[in-house]
Amino acid sequence: MAQVVFTEDPRARESAYTLGRIHSIETMGTVDGPGIRFVVFTQGCPMRCAYCHNPDTWDVRAGAQVSVEHLIDLYESNRAFYKTGGITVSGGEPLLQPAFLADLFRAMHARPRGRVHTCLDSCGYAFDPAHPERFDAVLAETDLVLLDIKHSNPEGHRKLTGQSNERILAFGAHLAARGIKTVIRHVVVPGITDSVEECEALGRLIGPWLNVVGLEMLPYHTMGIPKYKQMGLEYPLAGVPPMDKERMPELRQAVLRGMKESRSKAGSHHPKSH
Ligand code: SF4
Repeated sequence: MAQVVFTEDPRARESAYTLGRIHSIETMGTVDGPGIRFVVFTQGCPMRCAYCHNPDTWDVRAGAQVSVEHLIDLYESNRAFYKTGGITVSGGEPLLQPAFLADLFRAMHARPRGRVHTCLDSCGYAFDPAHPERFDAVLAETDLVLLDIKHSNPEGHRKLTGQSNERILAFGAHLAARGIKTVIRHVVVPGITDSVEECEALGRLIGPWLNVVGLEMLPYHTMGIPKYKQMGLEYPLAGVPPMDKERMPELRQAVLRGMKESRSKAGSHHPKSH
């Protein structure tokens, strides 16, 4: 894995595209979408998840302005590695910069050496359900979304992330209406999101979304702590142990059960099932 933190892009001033505010890139990403991926981490996030590994991406004014041209050059210099992968934009929260994302993904789809698979890794909070059209251009060029749903319950979500989950669920429903392939991600934290009830409730929320092609249950770990120390921040989950991985299959089953339940309920209202 090779991470590059941006300080300046000398070509930014002449760019023909919308510039992105970028924290860093990962040239050989293996956990954010299929295959080996070029991962762009955008700067700025409106959430404050208690377990965030990347508090250095929160500040929307930090990072560097980087051109689409520069990102394309970096991608092309390693293209051979990305045969079964592509590009992922993660964060921070990438949807804070929809015009940049649209330009970057459009350019990636139109590469003369071959179309590049595009993936958006988002918490969904920057989506505005009152103005979904603002996201049309980027979603038209998005092949896959990794959508984090942090908590099924609005109050629990607010406690864990500082924000309610309404916009996130609205984004999920919007992706479903557009039929964009989506993988749901859920971080399982001991004592917070590790109950069978929570996982079933999550399953009932995502069950109606027929575009969901995968479910990633991520056990909470404590590897983010040193960054908080480095930045002089208090770690909100101090004392919470890493998630016991042995419980993950049971909790995954609980989500799948919730999904099935909501689908069979929806089916029972369908005229054909009577
Ligand atoms: S949404 Fe992601 S980047 Fe933002 S605070 Fe949560 S974990 Fe961190």
